[in-house]
Amino acid sequence: MVLDQTCFYPRGGGQAADTGEIGGVRVVGVEKDDSSDIFHILERDAPFRTGEKVHGTIDWPRRHRIMRLHSAAHIVYYVMQQFFGEECKPASSGLLDDQKERTDYWFTDKPDMEKLKRVEEEANRIISEGRVITTWSDEEERRFWKMDPFPVMACGGTHVKNSQEIGRIRVDRGKKPGKGKERIEVSLVE
Ligand SMILES: [Zn+2]
Repeated sequence: MVLDQTCFYPRGGGQAADTGEIGGVRVVGVEKDDSSDIFHILERDAPFRTGEKVHGTIDWPRRHRIMRLHSAAHIVYYVMQQFFGEECKPASSGLLDDQKERTDYWFTDKPDMEKLKRVEEEANRIISEGRVITTWSDEEERRFWKMDPFPVMACGGTHVKNSQEIGRIRVDRGKKPGKGKERIEVSLVE
């Protein structure tokens, strides 16, 4: 189902789609195509007619966890560069739902787990500083993210407005995704 306006975030850029309901029918997926239409995938056949007014609600607690994790993932990305060096680049874009954010990084050697612990501590320290997070679009509709002291990042995802909203995070090493790569997982402590 396509609406003239929506607050449902479509799957994209590694971020999971919102779930929720429209007119009492569960929304199980949200997709965007090249036409920039946003398609709401309903659990059952839509009992709606074209032109009808409907009311939608997103699963806010879930979306809020996604926003906290997405903002946290950007902070962890910059802290990873500080501790492991600039050659520690992401090997692919991250994947994110309301439970975890996973990004694969290029690693020539086994990651120093002591250093990874320090990445977690430093990210949590920065988060606790209550730094302002801003997002905006340019004239070509490209979206950006910024939080001092880090540089601007291109990102179309959803974010919290202040780092303190993220709360405490964990940074773990995930399942090895392949030779020369390591999966770094970010999760929320509470
Ligand atoms: Zn992002």
